[in-house]
Amino acid sequence: MATDVPLAVDYETLFRAGPGGIVIADSSNTIVQVNDHMLEWIGFSREELVGNSFTRLLPAADRILFSARAMPLLFLDGRVSDLSFNVLGKDRVARAVHLSASRVNQRPEAGEAPSLVGTTVFLFTPRRERTAEEEHLISAVRHAEKADALRREAEYDLARSAQFDALTSLLSRVGLMPRLADMVRNAPPACDLVTFVLGLDHFRVVNESLGQAAGDQVLKAVADRLLALTDEGSLCARVGDDEFVVVGPGSARGVSFADTLLDIVSAPILVDDLDIVVTASIGASESPITTAEGIAPASLAETQVRQATSAMYQAKAMGRNRWKRFTSVLDDSAINEIRLLGEIRAALADGQFRLEYQPQLDLETRRLHGYEALMRWDHPERGVIGPAGFIDVAERSGLVNQLGAWACRVAIERCLQLNASPDAPPITVSVNVSARQLGDPRLAEMIAELLAESGLDPALLTLEITETGLITDSPGAHRNLELLHGHGVRLSIDDFGTGHAGFAYLKDFPVDELKIDGSFVAGLGDSAEDEAIVASCIDVGHAMGLSVVAEGIETREQLDRLAEMGCDVIQGYFYSKPLRDDSLDTWQPSI
Ligand code: C2E
Ligand code: MG
Ligand code: MG
Repeated sequence: MATDVPLAVDYETLFRAGPGGIVIADSSNTIVQVNDHMLEWIGFSREELVGNSFTRLLPAADRILFSARAMPLLFLDGRVSDLSFNVLGKDRVARAVHLSASRVNQRPEAGEAPSLVGTTVFLFTPRRERTAEEEHLISAVRHAEKADALRREAEYDLARSAQFDALTSLLSRVGLMPRLADMVRNAPPACDLVTFVLGLDHFRVVNESLGQAAGDQVLKAVADRLLALTDEGSLCARVGDDEFVVVGPGSARGVSFADTLLDIVSAPILVDDLDIVVTASIGASESPITTAEGIAPASLAETQVRQATSAMYQAKAMGRNRWKRFTSVLDDSAINEIRLLGEIRAALADGQFRLEYQPQLDLETRRLHGYEALMRWDHPERGVIGPAGFIDVAERSGLVNQLGAWACRVAIERCLQLNASPDAPPITVSVNVSARQLGDPRLAEMIAELLAESGLDPALLTLEITETGLITDSPGAHRNLELLHGHGVRLSIDDFGTGHAGFAYLKDFPVDELKIDGSFVAGLGDSAEDEAIVASCIDVGHAMGLSVVAEGIETREQLDRLAEMGCDVIQGYFYSKPLRDDSLDTWQPSI
């Protein structure tokens, strides 16, 4: 029977001597209080814990679980219960616990300590085992990290000889080309060589939906099948992420061999109990060697691979899962690309390019942090063209180096003007640098010269580099980054999370900032997975001492979530679209 008799509760005794371990941490997970039971259990003194981060009590795997699982739930629901964790004692021995936690969000009731508002109360009770699902999550993350580490190690070893692809053990592009030249040189008279370039269709989707480990298995399976099909007189190589080359004497098999290649690639591949079907687009190039007298074998080999690659792209454009023979007549898309290249070159000389500037907001102060410079082309007939309309072509041809140098010069001048008033808070300008530019041996010197000429404080200039720019294994890129960092220029990883580079990669580069890709921001409020990814990016970024920027913020809800998660800077249409240069001085932040 219920009783109305008020219970006289001694909260202090309840806290100190309660049956489970209790830890109270503030909003940045710093421990503010801990009860006796917990101290006895893990062997620390109160002084050793209070003021330190709560996550110090968790082993590495549990920190991942904490930021990927517990933190997002705490933010969403205000509480979590019965998660299986381990807690490290002073003796470094892990103790298995059930963890429940709740955030004290409400205003304090009469008599409640106001200092507890905003804190999280963690309750630990002993447990025997983790749930299978959590074990699975941890082992998946560990497995991915291990696979990542092993792959990088193998890549490093093989990069020295650079002859073989670490993943598939096939020849790499570097290994292929001299062997192909030898093949051309030694081919018997009247023997036609046929080069096939295979590009897997939509391979990105495999990586994105099933994970990179699954993608790797698919690549290996395709490589094994190609190898099984080729004989001693043939060559087989992996020349790009999802591109393979097979070369053999044409008379032996004829180009209809391409049909066989299409068939063996598209047979289902078993990955983690799933049958995955990938298709390929194939380009074939037949070069009658006997008519090629006087041309160096190396250049014949280059031409043959280039022609087959261009035919492969034609096959893709025609709908994929098919093969196409190279013909010397350029198709429309190739002609268009060359025309566009000429136009870009002329437009650069003619001053048709300009930069727009998208404001970035400091989430803590809610003041202007800086601007990202974004390139626009005022085309005399087609109107304003965004980077999607020209950057790829400029990148493929190398013209992006000139475009990029122009953008850096203009952005540095603009940044100098923006900071003309000595008393005003500093305003940064970020400039995008493409992978090709990053590999250009003159990049760092070019920027250092521009900075020296202008007198701009290098710390006001941020260069945005994509993960792909970092992971293309170019020694020039690494040197550029070190030099630029040495000059005091800030470096930011753009579109973070989309390039599969993994967190571990960050340690190898002198990076200052992470820019979380807008595709993850778009899921805030809807997708628990995106929430967890964004939270982890912010946590890991901060743990590595980096500033974290989120881009693509379109709603108030996304902004509020990012502020709660501790993101440093935001950029997006919600705050402002990219602005024309002439409206920059009159624009006022309004949030
Ligand atoms: P990015 O560096 O990731 O730039 C952000 C892109 O997202 C910009 O597109 C920007 O206009 C757009 N954006 C900003 N806020 C929002 C939002 O709230 N919602 C949505 N849906 N989009 C938003 P933009 O200007 O078309 O640029 C596209 C890409 O082109 C850039 O991506 C960057 O990789 C590249 N790019 C731009 N300027 C340059 C440049 O000067 N050099 C090089 N190499 N690449 C550039
Ligand atoms: Mg950018
Ligand atoms: Mg971006």
